[in-house]
Amino acid sequence: MNSTTDSRSPAGADIELAGVTKAYAGTPAVADLTVRLAPGELCCLLGPSGCGKSTTLRLIAGLEAPDAGTIRINGRDMRGLPPQRRNLGFVFQNYALFPHMDVFDNVAYGLRSRGGMDGAAVRRAALDALAMVRLDGYADRRVHELSGGEQQRVALARALVTGPDALLLDEPFSNLDARLREAMRGELAELRRRLGITTVFVTHDKEEAFALADRIVLLRDGRLEQQGPPEELYRRPASAFAAGFLGSANCFAGDGWPDRLERLFGPLDENARGGLVVLRPERVRPEPDADGPFVVAEALFMGPYVRYLLRRAGDPDFPPVEAHCPAFGPRLTPGARVAVRLLPEPA
Ligand code: ADP
Repeated sequence: MNSTTDSRSPAGADIELAGVTKAYAGTPAVADLTVRLAPGELCCLLGPSGCGKSTTLRLIAGLEAPDAGTIRINGRDMRGLPPQRRNLGFVFQNYALFPHMDVFDNVAYGLRSRGGMDGAAVRRAALDALAMVRLDGYADRRVHELSGGEQQRVALARALVTGPDALLLDEPFSNLDARLREAMRGELAELRRRLGITTVFVTHDKEEAFALADRIVLLRDGRLEQQGPPEELYRRPASAFAAGFLGSANCFAGDGWPDRLERLFGPLDENARGGLVVLRPERVRPEPDADGPFVVAEALFMGPYVRYLLRRAGDPDFPPVEAHCPAFGPRLTPGARVAVRLLPEPA
């Protein structure tokens, strides 16, 4: 443990939003949002553009004030507390590094403006923070000499240097190319595990959320659509919107479907109870069967998988069923008659 981590509670902060509402010109950007994050948890605020993710983050940060509801950090009501007194670290999409300062000064800035530390302590803390993001030796570099990924790591170091109770990240990697974005995801996950810091991460990218989150908070039009661990949301989406936002989905809504589908596919699991049955295409396995109830209508090579569209033989009203099968292995051709089996849920 170094000097920056010593001042932090090792498990991070718990963050609680209760009935939080914020409207702009009468239109709610966040409506009646209730979420509770455990210490050390990484929560992804996920949803389409305009669903209220950034507003939620800005409310936690104190950059906006809620119209109604309460935000508590470690049990303390944040009402009226300005951002700099909330002990949070922020990273935003556009880095917002000071271009005229070197890396060291960018990282030390927050400590110096808070005051109360001598030069040697500031230096130690800033170098520690740079080491945390694997930028040892970068202290004297100019910001414009850094790659996008390095700049974003400086932004992370600057957010961490004050020993915050939580990290708030707003699409921090979205300006990076796909490979760098994946690498940064890995680094963030590792850093977070090491520091145990509670993290709220805004993204519209479901894969980023799957890869990073302990908990996904899925928003739609400012409202909570569903929250839970990534696999739970993926396997048991609570709505057709959640099913479709998180991936390809065969959705069957209505009372008669579970029985009808069980007759065709065999037993459904608890995933399929209630009014909405969601079958992920990669669970659906068509197999050649001259008497099978489906016909392959389309077979599209998609790289890692083949996308089949299956139609119920002799029943044009039955919705087409999408199946994704590994691209290695036997192939089906359009016109083939098939039976359909569902892969079991993981134990
Ligand atoms: P997201 O981050 O999910 O894309 P935002 O939280 O930025 O969504 O925005 C949610 C809604 O609130 C949008 O309709 C947006 O136009 C509106 N909004 C956000 N900030 C402001 C603002 N400062 N003034 C007016 N409307 C805003």
